[in-house]
Amino acid sequence: MQPTDLQQPVNVDPTAPQAKGGIAGRRCGQCGGDVRFKPGTDAVECKFCSYLEQIVVAPDRVVHEYDLDTALTAAPTGAASELSAGGREVECKNCGARTVVTGQATRCAFCDAAMVVEIPQESRQILPESVLPFAIDAEAAKAAFRAWLKTRWFAPGDLVRRSKHQGMDGMYLPYWTFDAQTSTRYTGERGEHYYVTETYTDSQGNTQTRQVQRTRWYSASGTVHVAFDDILVCASKSLPEKLVDKLEPWDIPALKPFDDRYLAGFMAERYAVDLPSGFSRATEKMAPAITSAIRRDIGGDEQRIHSASTSYYDKRFRHTLLPLWISAFRYHEKVFRVTVNARTSEVQGERPWSWIKITLFVLAILALIIGIIYLYQSNQG
Ligand SMILES: [Zn+2]
Ligand SMILES: [Zn+2]
Repeated sequence: MQPTDLQQPVNVDPTAPQAKGGIAGRRCGQCGGDVRFKPGTDAVECKFCSYLEQIVVAPDRVVHEYDLDTALTAAPTGAASELSAGGREVECKNCGARTVVTGQATRCAFCDAAMVVEIPQESRQILPESVLPFAIDAEAAKAAFRAWLKTRWFAPGDLVRRSKHQGMDGMYLPYWTFDAQTSTRYTGERGEHYYVTETYTDSQGNTQTRQVQRTRWYSASGTVHVAFDDILVCASKSLPEKLVDKLEPWDIPALKPFDDRYLAGFMAERYAVDLPSGFSRATEKMAPAITSAIRRDIGGDEQRIHSASTSYYDKRFRHTLLPLWISAFRYHEKVFRVTVNARTSEVQGERPWSWIKITLFVLAILALIIGIIYLYQSNQG
């Protein structure tokens, strides 16, 4: 292997296999201009001459799943510049979001604060080995946002106007996906129904009989095995959990092996939930399925679970980036966020309420009620 001369231009052949984490600068193959990923395609587009270049992923690039127990030594880590060509990491002093940007960052995409500072000492993190590329572009996202806003009751009128001008930021949100085999030992009780005949006196004073359900309990114990595949955990803390949960489902089978060209022209958030915390969140998501497996195993008509102890093995994970259009705007000093899933166009969001519209609506209802009462009374009289 030849030692690399630092004075030499960097090899930008996109089909050449790349060193882990090493990303060469991305330039247009025709004019040398900046390129950005074109949503809905598998290509980057030149900002200047619109030349399209297909993303050809080297055949040795596959979506890896790493063993969780050896992850901290085996999974490649890197700084922001290794995630995206020319990437710099910035931190929002207001909400704490850490984002990889290539362009000028003047405000935070998550909270619209202008308190964004560059992190001089780039922190190293586990690098994503897969990405779900943007399928819908900014115009389509804005149209989805406007359509959503139109169906909101009592939205302030200036908000609707503002949404027409409001930009949307293309953001890759960090996620972990986990696979695991589980084995759970449990103790509990199986309840079986039986019926007894009861006599009672009805309202006419006659003696009647009726069947009454009772439960007989038997102790039960055993072991259940449940396998989990692609349990998704959001590794961002920058959006409210309610909003993040509603972004699901994501088409995880469509994941592509990571290539920095999918990030060209977009931002990517650094993960704020680390791997061990992510796995612990994943076990919470696995718990209901394990509980149902125990109930099925116990059988009978009713079940009681007294203890359950789960061991997890064959734990594997992936770090992946999922695409989102986000609009964070301040309205009367409060931050509202609207997100568009960049795969499905589904819109979720927080929104301000127009108290003037609500008050007018309530007054109109009151006027209607008073009118009806008045009509009713004048008919009576
Ligand atoms: Zn060009
Ligand atoms: Zn922020």
